Amino acid sequence: MAGWWDAPVTVLKSVGDRRAEQFARLHIRTVGDLLRHYPRHYEDWSHPVSIASAPFGEPCCVRATVLTAPEERRVRPGMVLYRFSAGDGASRMTVTLFNNRFLAARIRPRKTYLFYGPVTGGFTRREMASPQIEEAPETGGLPRLRPVYRQTEGLSSHVIEGCVRQALEGLEREMPADPLPEALRRKEGLCSLKDALNRIHFPEDEAALEAARRRLVYEELLVLQLGMLTLKSRARGEAGARITEGYTAEFFARLPFSPTGAQRRAIEECLEDMASGRPMSRLIQGDVGSGKTAVAAGVIHAMVRNGWQAALMAPTEILAEQHVRSLSALLGDSVRVGLLTGSLPAAQKRETLAALASGELQLAVGTHALLSEGVRFARLGLVVTDEQHRFGVEQRARLAAKGENPHLLVMSATPIPRTLALILYGDLDVSVLDELPPGRTPVATYAVGSDKRERAYGYVRRHLDQGRQAYLVCPLVEESGGEDGLPAESDLASAVRMRDELQAGPFRGYRVGLLHGKMKPAEKEQVMTAFSAGDIGLLVATTVVEVGVDVPNAVLMVIENAERFGLAQLHQLRGRVGRGKWPSTCILISDARNEEARRRLRVMCETCDGFRIADEDLKLRGPGDFFGRRQHGLPSLRIADLAGGDMTLFRRAQDAARALIDEGFRPFGPGTEEWGDDPALPLLAEQVRRLFEQVGGQGLN
Ligand code: ADP
Ligand code: MG
Repeated sequence: MAGWWDAPVTVLKSVGDRRAEQFARLHIRTVGDLLRHYPRHYEDWSHPVSIASAPFGEPCCVRATVLTAPEERRVRPGMVLYRFSAGDGASRMTVTLFNNRFLAARIRPRKTYLFYGPVTGGFTRREMASPQIEEAPETGGLPRLRPVYRQTEGLSSHVIEGCVRQALEGLEREMPADPLPEALRRKEGLCSLKDALNRIHFPEDEAALEAARRRLVYEELLVLQLGMLTLKSRARGEAGARITEGYTAEFFARLPFSPTGAQRRAIEECLEDMASGRPMSRLIQGDVGSGKTAVAAGVIHAMVRNGWQAALMAPTEILAEQHVRSLSALLGDSVRVGLLTGSLPAAQKRETLAALASGELQLAVGTHALLSEGVRFARLGLVVTDEQHRFGVEQRARLAAKGENPHLLVMSATPIPRTLALILYGDLDVSVLDELPPGRTPVATYAVGSDKRERAYGYVRRHLDQGRQAYLVCPLVEESGGEDGLPAESDLASAVRMRDELQAGPFRGYRVGLLHGKMKPAEKEQVMTAFSAGDIGLLVATTVVEVGVDVPNAVLMVIENAERFGLAQLHQLRGRVGRGKWPSTCILISDARNEEARRRLRVMCETCDGFRIADEDLKLRGPGDFFGRRQHGLPSLRIADLAGGDMTLFRRAQDAARALIDEGFRPFGPGTEEWGDDPALPLLAEQVRRLFEQVGGQGLN
């Protein structure tokens, strides 16, 4: 289907090689790419506001009558200003144009215009600099929303707009087939691609824009789901390792507790996968404290007892070391475990590497160091990654490449809304640990002002006196520098100072420890071991304790400057307590007045349910942040906003994707050209391939 759509942008008037290069920076090479470069937002000229009600500094459309003729002022060679004042009966403003003789000559006193741009200046002296100006109709505004594009140096939104107009004119002559099958479009009430493109760039009104968005979002989500579902269902060949027996009775007998129903179920699901002959790709999703480690241990145990090796990758050294401790405790001498981190002494590392390559070590636990070249396994059958959100699809794949199609288990402690999980982990099967180990009571959570700090410390001392332990998480220092323009104290400095002050003051006579990210691994290990053993009563820490640290005797979590943390992080931090048989408490210290911060703290006090917190988080932070930072290696979406209300459309698109796949639609396999009767399907397949090219179609396993 060569032609207009696939033609290089240089077919457009005024686009030469230089422009083409600029377009390439926006990943726009063809006319089709340009048409898929949707506006980021729109200038609304249809509802002008009065000068007094113009939001300060934000672009808007103002309707005003010119009161004075433009006055010319040469400020320096090559710079001429034109100034005039305009008013709307209630207030007036000064408008300034720079070097724009042409526009200035068209401005007539007593005529009414629409001005588009940001209004600035003081309350009494409003100003607009270089606004766009159009003659106003008798009343109101112009019936239009003007597109604003993501631009790049030398290539303004206006230039892009002009090119898009040309591109759309070309479509009038030569419109490629629509990638959405007509029957599907009719069923879902979606407009054609041509209408959608015309309206998304130049909508007549809000309704037209909404119709265009709906169609394009649906298409994008359908393409995404088709890709995810096919990758998931694709036979990924034979699994390297196949277990014949689960050894669960043996494993459960080793455990110091009896597993929850959810843990048993999750382990069984994994064992079934690993016995099937197909490589497992499974996500264990469980809230903090739900006992994911024991599940991993059971799965590793089975793999090792069947004569294979396993690898477990964690995001931090502290966590890797802790996994070695807890897995050794759960698995005892049934599995020989080695630790592999970047900071291991060279000699020890060599030894571990040799023992992995020979097969003598059965389980490697480590950080990213596991991914390095020199790490070889004799018979790697299972790859486990903990706290998945810190690893990308690509890293999972790299570890997996060290075995022959090994089984893959991903453990995620980040509760994400279920629907979002479907997208982020669409290539994985999911087991949910929806049951906490027995005897847990929710962590009582209080938000208090700093005036209550002394009381909080007293509360902590009483618990230390009873033999319990506590965490105190240090204030996060604001990144932008301190008050008075002085450089801000670093998080580290603040942690050190805090520990010293606490030790010297309110906690004199108690054992106060310090843990922060900049410590040497050996020091960290020492502190964590001392805290685990109960030799440290109060652990002052930066957010390194956020992930995975497990000391059941710790029952208090005090968080300073709690407003500086996000909800997910607060939830993780709080998850460090409430892990043993004692009731636990979390105290959030904050003097913040800001409404959003207060709401976060309120949510924390109201619930311990990770999924509810995740939902709130999503609402508060908005999609860009939540989805953007976590999507890791998944194709990025151009227009769909899953957190902003496109979820319903997502579900519809997902159903449609399933139906298409059931009918035999295979975007990756051969034979995609054979759907002769529906011209849409090959185009759809092409789009799926393009979207997944970005992440490497092979990578998602
Ligand atoms: P997470 O899911 O956050 O990784 P962990 O695996 O660290 O949770 O487990 C949290 C704590 O609960 C650990 O101290 C662990 O020993 C304990 N635990 C796990 N499963 C059970 C169970 N079935 N009964 C009692 N305690 C359990
Ligand atoms: Mg954990």
